[in-house]
Amino acid sequence: MPSFDSICVREVPDPRTTKPHILPLYLTSSYAFDSIDDQIQVFNKEKSGHTYSRYGNPTVEAVASKITQLECFDLDHEGHGIMFSSGMAALHTLLLSTLKSGDAVLTQGNLYGGSTELLQKIGPRCGIKPILTDLSDLGNVEDVLRKNPSIQLLYFETPTNPTLQCIDMEAICLLAKKHGCLTAVDNTFATPYLQRPFKFGVDLIMHSTTKYLNGHGNSTTGILVGRDKEFMQTQVWGTMKLIGTNPGPMDAWLVHQGMKTLTLRMDRHCQNAQAIAEFLDDHPKVSFVNYIGLPKHPYHAIAKKQMEGFGGMLSFEVKGGLEPALDFLRKLRFCTMAPTLGDVDTLVLHPVTSSHLNVAPEIREQNGITDGMIRLSVGIEGVEDIIGDLRQALA
Ligand SMILES: *Cc1c(COP(=O)(O)O)cnc(C)c1O
Repeated sequence: MPSFDSICVREVPDPRTTKPHILPLYLTSSYAFDSIDDQIQVFNKEKSGHTYSRYGNPTVEAVASKITQLECFDLDHEGHGIMFSSGMAALHTLLLSTLKSGDAVLTQGNLYGGSTELLQKIGPRCGIKPILTDLSDLGNVEDVLRKNPSIQLLYFETPTNPTLQCIDMEAICLLAKKHGCLTAVDNTFATPYLQRPFKFGVDLIMHSTTKYLNGHGNSTTGILVGRDKEFMQTQVWGTMKLIGTNPGPMDAWLVHQGMKTLTLRMDRHCQNAQAIAEFLDDHPKVSFVNYIGLPKHPYHAIAKKQMEGFGGMLSFEVKGGLEPALDFLRKLRFCTMAPTLGDVDTLVLHPVTSSHLNVAPEIREQNGITDGMIRLSVGIEGVEDIIGDLRQALA
């Protein structure tokens, strides 16, 4: 019989009697072995099993495999996904596992702000050179690829934030292949429900799962899904376990909970955003609306070709610039002002005073981000409540 103190300290035997209905949360940093022989086999990969949670955790891996299944849905290959502590951790791990000092990465100027900063500030410290260009001009892309043989990775977003520029994935991937360059896309805005980039030849897909995949704004995580299983299991996993960009199991578990309603949420996000875009487009105090579901949006045709729906993100300009835009924001009562996106509630952001505060005015202008621009992450509430709030704040 162990002592009182030992009973306090010792683990209890596995309490399961029947299979849990819901994915269990494995809050453990390591895994105990039944014997030394067992341990040797697991460490030598002769037997599957977990060792240490930075290397892999059952909860985290279950969520990664679900997102991988969605990204590979309807395709004849399996792929492999690895989750990270954030979207930025996913991007950082992507760069360190695909590039080496002396390589260049080709990308666009209007990426998610943090991604641009990572490429421009951290990339050069590792000897990785970012080359920013207009990726919607394919002739220009071909020219840049031809002139810069050090480009090993093409990294882009479609649709982009906050102007919803779309990139023709099929065309740009053909160009990249021709020049022996890997392709990676940030699929955060679309989710695999609305856009599955593997179909168009993309090699690696990144998500900030903090956004639509979680959907409820209660955890920060990211994922990389690769077409090449072997590459993911060696290069990407090998980098992740050494730089420690793995997520906490609780954060991954919350993404799993959120994803159960992904299709219901996305259908409603799309439906509400379309109605709101049409309302704003007709409003006399609004000078323009960026929503790819509006046939007149310059990227509507590309979006239609490669997406199954137009998503919940839109931006618009309040006529008159900064002051009328701030006035509009001060009057909002129903929508929430928060610098994130993809949650169930409608979120409003003023890029110039938040996400794009540190972006030079001329770069903002080049990318169509005006002082009066408002970004909406349209939620799944009753659309009449959202439109009512916008109407009274514009009045
Ligand atoms: C939020 C976001 C990121 C960064 O993800 P985190 O989870 O915040 O690290 C990257 N790309 C896009 C498009 C995003 O919206």
